Amino acid sequence: MSVDLNNLTVAGAAKRLADGSVTSEELVKASLAAIEEKNPKLNAFVSTYERALDDARAADARRAGGGEVGPLHGVPVAVKDNILVAGERVSAGSRILENYVGAYDAAVVVRLKAAGAILVGRTNMDEFAMGSSTETSHYGATRNPWDAERVPGGSSGGSAAAVAAGLVPAALGSDTGGSIRQPASLCGVVGLKPTYGRVSRYGLIAMASSLDQIGPLARTVEDAALLLAAIQGADPKDATTVSSPDAFVPALETEGVKGLRVGLPREFFVEGMDERVKDLVTDAVRVLERGGAEIREVSLPHAPSALAAYYVNMPAEASSNLGRFDGMRYGLSMPGARLEETYGRTREEGFGPEVKRRILLGTFVLSAGYADAYYRQAMKVRTLIKRDFDEAFKEVDVLAGPTSPSVAWKLGEKFDDPLTMYLSDIYTISANLAGVPALSLPCGFADGLPVGLQLHARPLDEASLFRAGMFYQAKTDWHARVAEM
Ligand code: GLN
Repeated sequence: MSVDLNNLTVAGAAKRLADGSVTSEELVKASLAAIEEKNPKLNAFVSTYERALDDARAADARRAGGGEVGPLHGVPVAVKDNILVAGERVSAGSRILENYVGAYDAAVVVRLKAAGAILVGRTNMDEFAMGSSTETSHYGATRNPWDAERVPGGSSGGSAAAVAAGLVPAALGSDTGGSIRQPASLCGVVGLKPTYGRVSRYGLIAMASSLDQIGPLARTVEDAALLLAAIQGADPKDATTVSSPDAFVPALETEGVKGLRVGLPREFFVEGMDERVKDLVTDAVRVLERGGAEIREVSLPHAPSALAAYYVNMPAEASSNLGRFDGMRYGLSMPGARLEETYGRTREEGFGPEVKRRILLGTFVLSAGYADAYYRQAMKVRTLIKRDFDEAFKEVDVLAGPTSPSVAWKLGEKFDDPLTMYLSDIYTISANLAGVPALSLPCGFADGLPVGLQLHARPLDEASLFRAGMFYQAKTDWHARVAEM
């Protein structure tokens, strides 16, 4: 029996697996067949895992044998190429790690496997997650399923495109400044950046450790909640995980939004943004209003400084994290006559231009004489941004706005202009600096290209995001549209 993954959600797959109308082997075969057919055009997957079908058969056998099964038992899922899977290649989209094989399973992988998910492969990404278009990958750009001439967003563009094109029902991504939400928005799928500390970063190839979070990309808000429930929770191997997260059970029934207070940050609806994006986001807020949500304007006064603070804070941490790639221990090694030469040659050959740019930026803002002017100043701004959210959340439960100021742009259009590329992150970066959870979900199309609504909530209050998001998806069907390709 062939299965159409285009209309299959994680929840739907789990239900059909449970009632016996489909097997995991059939699902994984369908996923691998869809990848074989569409990936040459999309370049969403870097590779698939050989053992996926065996894992699926084992999952079916376990279910048939009456063994205990987890909530994702038999469901195919993909992971971004910066999440370690034991025995599988993982490269963070970089030449320097091209032949690196994961030495252990990332915490999220351990948890996905425990929930029964079948990992089918790793998805393409900007090199070391640095980018907004998935064009900086060593494996070449990923394309947008809605228009193959356009970027899928980034850096988790492979995960977003894979879900949007029906190659897998869900995938994991990572988000340091928007890398889950922005590609979700540009590809018309749901993406969640959890609260900082909600999900363990153990086994994630670090970009900027105080900002990085792993989270799900899926077709529905319900699926994102199911995935989060599977991967979240304290982990002794990541000291920044929250030791006792609020009891978290995804509300699988939509409870409505009556009485939910929704704030519209003035700073998120600025001059110069794409009018079509503004109109669609405004329409989406009206859907919540008709459901009984109270809408009011709020202010995040320091939001306009977020991008500047991020582009000091992030490269500072990235330059430090990437110091471990020196040709000694991991990945590529280009031996020279002296130690410094080995470092230099390995990095020269192994890193692409965007990664080098950020290492240089980061080293500069941390250097003696400049750290006070740049790094410490940016940290102060970060605190002010966090306080803005604290203040806003005294008045409202959820903040609504756009995810991206524009729809997907043409491949190559911003590639040689890093500043313009960085500007595409203006709405997503604040959530990382403040550590709050944020969700992007499809809220319409402009000239055939998806637009995303972004919702923010208080730390550890993902439940309010799911409540609003599930209500919205019950009232609209943007998320059910399928990219024809
Ligand atoms: N696009 C942003 C950047 O280039 C965010 C990246 C990310 O979230 N990993 O830094």
